[in-house]
Amino acid sequence: ENARKSKETVEDLFFKFMDAQDCPEITSTFRQLVKLLGIKSENAREFYSLLKGKLQSWRCKSLWELLDSRANQNEYGKGKICEDTHVLVIGAGPIGLRTAIEAALLGAHVVIVEKRESFVRNNVLHLWPFLLTDFRSLGAKKFYGKFCCSSIDHISIRRLQAVLLKTALIFGAKLYTGVTFDHVIEPNSLEDGWKCKVSPASHPVSQYEFDVLIGADGKKNVIPGFQQIEMRGTLAIGITANFVNHGTEEEAKVEEISGIAYQFNPQFFDQLSEQKGIKLENIVYYKDETHYFVMTAGKASLLKRGALKQDFGPPAKLLAPSNIDHSKLLEYVTDVVKYATKGTLISLELKIVGNNQPDIAAFDFTSIKKAEHAARIIERKGSKLLVGLVGDSLLEPFWPTGSGCARGVLSALDAAWTIRSFAQDKPPLQILGERENIYRLLSGTSAENLHKDPAKYTINPSTRYLHITHKRIREVYHLFDTDDPVNADFSIGSPQIAVSNKASRRKRISTGAKFTSTKGRKRGRASSHLAADANRLRSTSGSSMENLAAHNPLSSTRSVPLDGRMRARTSVGSDDEVFQIKTTRRVRINPVAIPLTRRSRS
Ligand code: FAD
Repeated sequence: ENARKSKETVEDLFFKFMDAQDCPEITSTFRQLVKLLGIKSENAREFYSLLKGKLQSWRCKSLWELLDSRANQNEYGKGKICEDTHVLVIGAGPIGLRTAIEAALLGAHVVIVEKRESFVRNNVLHLWPFLLTDFRSLGAKKFYGKFCCSSIDHISIRRLQAVLLKTALIFGAKLYTGVTFDHVIEPNSLEDGWKCKVSPASHPVSQYEFDVLIGADGKKNVIPGFQQIEMRGTLAIGITANFVNHGTEEEAKVEEISGIAYQFNPQFFDQLSEQKGIKLENIVYYKDETHYFVMTAGKASLLKRGALKQDFGPPAKLLAPSNIDHSKLLEYVTDVVKYATKGTLISLELKIVGNNQPDIAAFDFTSIKKAEHAARIIERKGSKLLVGLVGDSLLEPFWPTGSGCARGVLSALDAAWTIRSFAQDKPPLQILGERENIYRLLSGTSAENLHKDPAKYTINPSTRYLHITHKRIREVYHLFDTDDPVNADFSIGSPQIAVSNKASRRKRISTGAKFTSTKGRKRGRASSHLAADANRLRSTSGSSMENLAAHNPLSSTRSVPLDGRMRARTSVGSDDEVFQIKTTRRVRINPVAIPLTRRSRS
């Protein structure tokens, strides 16, 4: 009788965990569950197996079946490949969590730090088709029955985070909320490993030694050493608003707007301008857990309607909270909503978020940034650290394309492939060369130019990208930053570069090299990435979300990083085991500014 009761308690707790919505509830029920089950294993795969073994009701079994089929992919090598690898992920946004899942599936010890205490973002993401397969295979439908049920595939950010967090925990990852990553701390001696400073300083994470650091902290990437390329255009003001969805029959009848852009329906916007003095470039409306609206608004009309108090040149000053009249902004948005939904959405009650704030915001997207490189390897005192960026930290999306989550997940899978190579002890330059080869493809990906069968996608990039050019030469020497004179000697034919990744901690002489950023190299390639982005954004075909991008304000100008010094060039064929090293003379790169064609409205 007691055994039956305790079984019930455990399974009830697991169902409570499966149904939990916010981060504190998810983590606390999971903690209780693990305690109750007495699972102590620090090995990710063993943890998952033990959990599975103790929860065998039909509802659990159907979840395990799904997750097993993912976990059994060959690439994960039964979770043995990364058994000795310790990963720290900064940020529990959708992409940080997605990366954590992959690292855990490879068998790594995974710790995620998240500065927020809970998941609060109601904004809704439109998902590319492959993401539906991906998220379903990770249990999305089991944790959230309404996952992508409407005619347009979308999900709120906080719901997506909740789904991915559950999967990450089940696969053995650990999350610490209310912990802000500050910076990395180099090993002090051969006995030390890589650590980090966090706030609060006394948090146990500050004692965690890791070999892989993943920056998934969103567009304000905090990891140094990654040069950013900025794409700057004419002023672009976005507005988001989330209204309460009461779930009434009237609300159910309101039609969603997958995306209307001025270019494709000028009458729609001209009439709005005539009737209400509101100038918009585009608008999207998704009916999800909230009624979510997002639009690009003209500055003049915001000023005229009093939503912006004063006209300032710098976007940061123009859109500073002190310059926004929130009640006027709400009137502005309310007029838009009534017009766009033809008056069918009647009860407009703004959702209230943390600190009792109504969920309405104006934001600037005049510029977007991307990292020039996706990964680095730093070696100090015999310990190597693989540092990688994913998601918005790596490649900030231009929101009207609705590409953020898709490219973010691709980057998470790519990062996992790199972690795998690192754990397999491949030579640093080979790892970095391969990573850069793949990263080169990311900004050009679309729903159409990936492999057609998403069910076959794995962390192996060749299962997803169509045109991997293995032979392409990449310059990656400067991405391997080492204090080991043996590794640092990149003279022609040096055999030492194939040195092991595993921290052998043998005595080495430090050259005293610092953890510094490498700046402004490979301008030519950076430019071609940007041109590809701009061309793609100017495309007038494609889905409604892509059509919104037709009015891309970023297609008018761009800036590329200045200065830069090349110490040497290392050519790495990504599928080659052998490196061809060419040393070159120092090259000073002059600043360049290449104008892109300005897009005309007509
Ligand atoms: P984020 O979601 O930004 O998560 C970063 C996390 O890191 C946050 O939780 C943050 O609290 C945490 N963090 C930051 N710094 C630290 C630190 N120092 N220590 C610890 N934690 C830290 N994408 C789509 O796919 N479809 C869409 O329809 C779409 N629409 C969009 C509409 C708008 C208006 C905008 C602005 C974006 C849109 N996007 C869309 C893009 C999408 O929101 C992002 O690409 C996605 O959220 C990126 O996820 P991420 O995990 O990389 O970063």
